[in-house]
Amino acid sequence: MSPRRARRLDPFDRPDRRGATRPVTSVPGVDRRESASDGDWVVRNVGGSGPDKTYRCPGCEQDIRSGVPHIVSWPDWPGGEDERRHWHTACWRNRLNRGPGRSRY
Ligand SMILES: [Zn+2]
Repeated sequence: MSPRRARRLDPFDRPDRRGATRPVTSVPGVDRRESASDGDWVVRNVGGSGPDKTYRCPGCEQDIRSGVPHIVSWPDWPGGEDERRHWHTACWRNRLNRGPGRSRY
């Protein structure tokens, strides 16, 4: 009995089910994925333009003033966008050097 035939008989593999549970994906060409020792992340560069809003960088706990290019990152898993954090670009790169015991975000 071939695996192909067995697969076709699988009631959970109907063609109309395909694509119904697509995970949340990010926009190609804008976001990039990074794998690091603290996990997989989606990283987006944020230009200087945008909403006039000040963010708090979790790396240095200083403000990121509006107009300053920085990055946004979140864990690369479904729903991870709820954990978005704004970082200074340098702080993001240096986060792994700050030692254990700090927040991942
Ligand atoms: Zn910072």
